[in-house]
Order: sequence, then C-alpha cells, then structure tokens
Amino acid sequence: MKAALAAIESFLLKTINVDRYLPIQLDITNACNLKCIHCYHPHHNNNGASSLDQWKEILIQYKALIQKMRYRPWVILCGGEPLASPHLLPLLSFIKQELPLSSLRAYPKTPAALKAMTADTRWRQAS
Ligand code: SF4
Repeated sequence: MKAALAAIESFLLKTINVDRYLPIQLDITNACNLKCIHCYHPHHNNNGASSLDQWKEILIQYKALIQKMRYRPWVILCGGEPLASPHLLPLLSFIKQELPLSSLRAYPKTPAALKAMTADTRWRQAS
C-alpha cells in the first residue's frame, strides 16, 4: 500500500511540476561596494554570515526537496554584492556539480562585474 501511494504521488508530482522551477535565493554576503539610500541591509560588514559549508548544506537540502517534488532547480545568488563574497566561486563549482541543470542568476552591482559575469555563457541572467 505504501509503495502504491508513493508511486501515485510520484506520478502526480511529475505530471504537475513538469517544466516548473522552484527558485532559491541565497544572499551570500551583506558586503557591498555601493550605499543605496533604499538599502535593506542595516550594515555591510557581513558579521555573522553563513559559512561555505552552511550554504552547501542548504543547497543539499534544496536538492533533496526539488528531487522529491520533481521541480527543476533555479539558484539565485545575491547579496549585498555577490562578487564581494569569497564563497561565490566555490558555490558556483558546487552548484555545477550538484545541480548541473540549474538555471543560475546573479545580481552584480557594477558594470564591470556585470560584463564579467555575462561573458560566462552558463549565466542565464545577470543584471
Ligand atoms: S546594491 Fe543592494 S546591497 Fe548594495 S547598497 Fe544598494 S541596495 Fe544595498
């Protein structure tokens, strides 16, 4: 009975969630090179930030969820300024390894950063 219910659940989720993405946004740093007056970060010193291992654990939990729910992965890396984080490149490698079909987005805050990121064809959006 349990196996039959699991099969029904799997079939329904596969039918309902085909081609649907489940986005996750990781604010990987509060550090930023800008000082917008509307900024929602109270500071840019990045105190108490999550470690690289903590971000990886979040992504592993996310991977388990989307596999169970049969969603497609969609990872958004934000901040602050994501390029100010030492975790950006290791996280990109980790995402490429664990979620190779992920749609990736990042929001760099300077024209130079935007140009550098859009030169990488893996990015579907950088703005
Ligand atoms: S770019 Fe974003 S994080 Fe940086 S100061 Fe402006 S609102 Fe804050």
